Amino acid sequence: MKPYMEMTKEELLALKKELSAQYKEFQTKDLRLDMSRGKPSTEQLDISMGMMDVLSGNVDLTCDDGTDCRNYGVLDGIKEAKELLADMMEVAPDYILIYGNSSLNVMYDTVSRSMTQGVMGSTPWCKLDKVKFLCPVPGYDRHFAITEYFGIEMISVPMTPDGPDMDMVEELVASDDSIKGIWCVPKYSNPQGISYSDETVRRFARLKPAAKDFRIYWDNAYTIHHLYDHDQDHLIEILAECKRAGNTDLVYKFASTSKVSFPGSGIAAIAASQNNLVDIKRQLKIQTIGHDKVNQLRHVRYFGDIHGMIEHMRKHADIIRPKFEAVINALEQELGELSIADWTNPKGGYFISFNSLNGCAKAIVTKCKKSGLIMTGAGATYPYGKDPNDCNIRIAPSYPTLSDLVLAMELFTLCVKLVSIDKILA
Ligand code: PLP
Repeated sequence: MKPYMEMTKEELLALKKELSAQYKEFQTKDLRLDMSRGKPSTEQLDISMGMMDVLSGNVDLTCDDGTDCRNYGVLDGIKEAKELLADMMEVAPDYILIYGNSSLNVMYDTVSRSMTQGVMGSTPWCKLDKVKFLCPVPGYDRHFAITEYFGIEMISVPMTPDGPDMDMVEELVASDDSIKGIWCVPKYSNPQGISYSDETVRRFARLKPAAKDFRIYWDNAYTIHHLYDHDQDHLIEILAECKRAGNTDLVYKFASTSKVSFPGSGIAAIAASQNNLVDIKRQLKIQTIGHDKVNQLRHVRYFGDIHGMIEHMRKHADIIRPKFEAVINALEQELGELSIADWTNPKGGYFISFNSLNGCAKAIVTKCKKSGLIMTGAGATYPYGKDPNDCNIRIAPSYPTLSDLVLAMELFTLCVKLVSIDKILA
């Protein structure tokens, strides 16, 4: 098949007729397919069911240091959980606070605290005329939802294959003291699966923000979420790099075990400098007497240590990898030669980022929906839900079964072809 742009009008019309018949056929199938959210599949959840056994019966819930996990207390998390999560986050246990069941919740709290209390003694953001955040795009819709909720102005920064456009980031943060943060998913980013290069991480650590309360929101959600054993991305550790650069307080690092154990029932944590941790704890001790220590202990007893966790992640990878490969194969086979789209081919994480011809993404998602395939809403990967080129679609391969996924990709690529032909003919 030759590129659509090289086809005559007659050829395109004939092709459209053929593809429309295939689409009609799909519409009779009453399909219910969903590639919209990055949720682990049931099969993945099943591999963590052993966690339900480790604390069953009349088991002793005492920590090594004598803490009784059934009772109140221990604001920053039990020692064993700090060690486990610290290893996962590649920092020393002294630099982390264990939270509750969601890292997104920690990010929300972090922005909320900065709004009402300020950051390490600076003016609370709610008292300022303007507060802005940089948002690498395409990015994670729920990050953008937090900043939008608090009325923070979002400035899009394009992603490159090495991470955000650092020339732009450096210039903006140095020149505008109303810019208080940047959302980052540095490893296997949502939605592109891009990992920041060493140079990008080094430049982040050496930013010279005009605002002294500027922080990098380093959401390392996919830190151990590799698809392959032999081909993995590794990042320079940002806290250590900031320290080396004399910028110790510049970053908050977030992570959770949501996609290691159970989303919504995992453990979340923040890692930051001692100054930041003191600032955070001032608020945290008002907010709670302590998070769920029983769940912390459950995770520690189940995984044992980081090696147990890494081994567990291999089981996740064995389930997810064929799904990513099925999506990539379908894209290559069906669209590879047509010059109407491009996509990423990640080595980890939960998403593939797909770009259609400009002005087609909304129509593709709508066309999929009309045949029973739910995709993430077009525009969701941009601040305010507005993709200026209307071209980006996030593909989440993890939840459907492999057979559903193959069917879903048949339908998706068909919709891409049909919408692209309409666009070219228009
Ligand atoms: N951060 C990123 C980049 C994500 O993709 C997700 C979920 O998809 C989350 C955070 C949510 O994390 P949690 O379950 O810890 O709130």
